[in-house]
Amino acid sequence: MNFSSKLLENAVYEFSRLPGVGQKTALRLVLHLLKQDTGDVQRFSSAMVKLRTEIQHCGTCHNISDSAVCEICASHKRDHGLICVVEDTRDVMAIENTNQYNGVYHVLGGLISPMDGVGPADLAIDSLVERIKTGEVNEVVFALSATMEGDTTIFYLHKRLKDAVVIISTIARGIAFGGELEYVDEITLGRSIATRVPYENSLSR
Ligand SMILES: [Zn+2]
Repeated sequence: MNFSSKLLENAVYEFSRLPGVGQKTALRLVLHLLKQDTGDVQRFSSAMVKLRTEIQHCGTCHNISDSAVCEICASHKRDHGLICVVEDTRDVMAIENTNQYNGVYHVLGGLISPMDGVGPADLAIDSLVERIKTGEVNEVVFALSATMEGDTTIFYLHKRLKDAVVIISTIARGIAFGGELEYVDEITLGRSIATRVPYENSLSR
C-alpha cells in the first residue's frame, strides 16, 4: 500500500497489528478517526493508554480489575467457599451474565498447551492450590473449554488437588466438544453451572 503520508502509514500500521484487522480495515478505521473531532480522538487514545497502564489483576483471583482486589472477591454477598476456575476474564464475564453463579473465581490466564509451549508454570495454578489449601474452600468447579487444552488442564489440576479436601466438579458439558466457553449462550452456560457434575463422573462419559 502506498501512503501519501508517513503519519497515515504509521497509524494504519498500528491498527493492522490488532488481531483480525487487515490493512484495508486499518485504513478505514484511521480515515474514520481523521474525520472525528480532535477531542474524541484524544479520549479514544487516552482510554487505551489508561487501560494499559492502570489496569490491575486481582491479587486473589487474577481477574482484570481496577483495584488490587476485584469487586467479586471483595463482595460479602458472594460464596467464597465456591471457586470457579476459568481460562480468562471473558469467561468470568460470560458466567456473570448468566446470573446463575454466586461463588468466586480463579482466572488461570490460559490453558496448558504443550504445542504452544504453555506449561503449568505459565498459569496461575500454584496460587489456586495455595488458595484451596489455606482458604475455606468447599468446592472447585472447572469451567474450561471442552477442548484438548481444557481437558489437559482439568486433568492436571485434578492431580494437583487430589489431597485437598474439596468437592471437584466440572460444568455439565451440554457444550459441544471443541466448544469455546465465551460463545455459549447464557441460558446453556447458566444451566451447565447449575447442573455441574463431580469430575470423576464426567470421566466415565
Ligand atoms: Zn478477585
